[in-house]
Amino acid sequence: PARATLIDGKAFSVDLVDRVAAAAARLEASQGVKPGLAVVIVGEDPASQIYVRNKGETTLRAGMRSDTHRLDETTTQDELLALIARLNADAGIHGVLVQLPLPKHIDSSVVLDAIDPDKDVDGFHVVNAGRLAVGLPGLVPCTPLGSLMLLKDQLGDLTGLNAVIVGRSNIVGKPMAQLLLGESCTVTIAHSRTRDLPALCRTADILVAAVGRPEMIKGDWIKPGATVIDVGINRVPSADPVKAAEGKTRVVGDVAFKEAVEIAGRITPVPGGVGPMTIACLLANTYSAACRSIGVEPEP
Ligand code: NDP
Repeated sequence: PARATLIDGKAFSVDLVDRVAAAAARLEASQGVKPGLAVVIVGEDPASQIYVRNKGETTLRAGMRSDTHRLDETTTQDELLALIARLNADAGIHGVLVQLPLPKHIDSSVVLDAIDPDKDVDGFHVVNAGRLAVGLPGLVPCTPLGSLMLLKDQLGDLTGLNAVIVGRSNIVGKPMAQLLLGESCTVTIAHSRTRDLPALCRTADILVAAVGRPEMIKGDWIKPGATVIDVGINRVPSADPVKAAEGKTRVVGDVAFKEAVEIAGRITPVPGGVGPMTIACLLANTYSAACRSIGVEPEP
């Protein structure tokens, strides 16, 4: 049988950033509003530092304003809340993102819910979760939004397809389920207490893996021809034992790619699949928030 088509999220995201940049330039030309994104990072977590730098660089490349606020590890919750209040009130800032994880002495749910829901470009505020659940316009979490864009680009109309999502986090699994329900899929959400996960996965026309366990989903869990979206980003020792001994690592998804690619119809690689879509959708959300802040409908 033919190998699965690889879903090129990298190429799609480059194109999406270009389209958002062009729309943002038109917004600035016609309304005098330049979309602005503020990213707040607390502490020195190396992975978070890389994410924040990438977000800032991509925002600038899209012709938008980018402010990065780097706070010391010892910043108090009240100090962080005061910064968020200032950003909420800043008319030049349309998106506010607090990089997670936060240091342990800060309650991230309090912080996330302090962001103005209309500037909550990560889509994590309870108001945006509620809007998504009841089908109102709002800001949708970037990773599931990007995954849905790839699915619609690949499959067109998703009506009636069986979708199985493995993972029920508020950041990925649950909003993914809401989005697919909105596309009239028949949606099942699986998690660590699900019984007979392999059999359930085999019912999926669309299988979304958002588990955080390297290569957990095996090839024979996949229905032949299914579309597989692998959200997982897991760092594991290099496949080369010599390099592994030197501490070299590689990134794998939640799906056993080598097996899955022989059975699926379409599949996102890791890296280069869902990952790059997340930042592109962050910019799309910032652009949408800027439009709505002046009562303009965002271009699609
Ligand atoms: P969480 O750890 O918050 O959630 C993981 C989910 O997987 C939970 O619902 C958990 O179930 C479920 N799970 C864990 N073990 C099993 C198992 N053995 N069988 C079935 N279900 C299981 O992770 P996130 O949702 O935040 O992230 C998931 C993955 O996606 C990670 O690899 C992360 O790195 C990646 N990610 C990638 C992004 C990107 O592409 N930019 C962005 C965000 C995340 P339970 O609820 O029962 O514990």
